[in-house]
Amino acid sequence: MLTPAALPTPLQVLADPALARAGVELRLKRDDLAHPAVPGNKWRKLAPNLAQAVADGHARLLTFGGAYSTHVRAVAAAAQALGLASVGVIRGEELAAAPRNWSLRAAEAAGMELEFVSRSAYRGLVGGEHGEHGALLRRWGRCLVLPEGGSNALAVRGAAEIPAEIPALGARDLLCCPVGTGGTLAGIAAGLPDGARALGVAVLRGEGYLEGEVAGLHRAAYGREFGNWRIHHGHHGGGYGKVPAEVESFAVEFERRHGVPVERRYVAKTLLAVHDLAAAGELAPGTRVTVVITGLPDPVGG
Ligand SMILES: *Cc1c(COP(=O)(O)O)cnc(C)c1O
Repeated sequence: MLTPAALPTPLQVLADPALARAGVELRLKRDDLAHPAVPGNKWRKLAPNLAQAVADGHARLLTFGGAYSTHVRAVAAAAQALGLASVGVIRGEELAAAPRNWSLRAAEAAGMELEFVSRSAYRGLVGGEHGEHGALLRRWGRCLVLPEGGSNALAVRGAAEIPAEIPALGARDLLCCPVGTGGTLAGIAAGLPDGARALGVAVLRGEGYLEGEVAGLHRAAYGREFGNWRIHHGHHGGGYGKVPAEVESFAVEFERRHGVPVERRYVAKTLLAVHDLAAAGELAPGTRVTVVITGLPDPVGG
């Protein structure tokens, strides 16, 4: 059985002098504490899909990801807990013969079968409609196919639970989260009450593209678009997975000051963006910022 999530996740008020100088309040929504095996936003996005998989009588989950995908590990752990089989289609055929990194080792240890595909085949599979999955489904049989990063309509509805757990949101509230595939931001924006807004921080180069992804997820989940969100593109740090020295030292200092573990590829960039926007006077005084801590740091030495 899958351990239930610890919900609602804690809301933590932080005293941060740099933000206080700008008249901005800072709170953390500690979704990193939601679940021991399926952390952070991966829980929010997977939970409704898992319920659907069980309701539809699926015996196997199939998904996609890179060599260090948190989503792939989360699917493996959730499938194992539910007694389902799982398949991870991994980008990079050269990885098949290489020693497994810590992330793929964890997925395999949870019983996931890995299939390695070339980068071009991967692009076709991830971007493609079901036609492109034909060969995979022939090999693996009937599966619930979850997209890369887990962002689909059900996932968006799961992430909409995040703001629903925060009391008394209103016009001075800005909810912030990282943007990888955009499902988390889409859900947060959709779950906000009137007046409150959402700000996503892109962790990869994706201006225009990411906005299209979020709008598409809104149409898929709710049949309409929302006007209460935007994406900040100034803190991707050079691209997905890149952690510049400035981001690293900010994260180290944030951890020291506040005692909160800071995941580097997503959360550190988001916190630094909020800090820089406040310092630059781009957040109106009186704004109450709630940063959703979407996940846990990678294991040390991993
Ligand atoms: C996967 C992940 C994200 C990305 O969320 P999207 O819904 O894909 O935008 C953000 N933060 C952390 C910690 C993650 O592991």
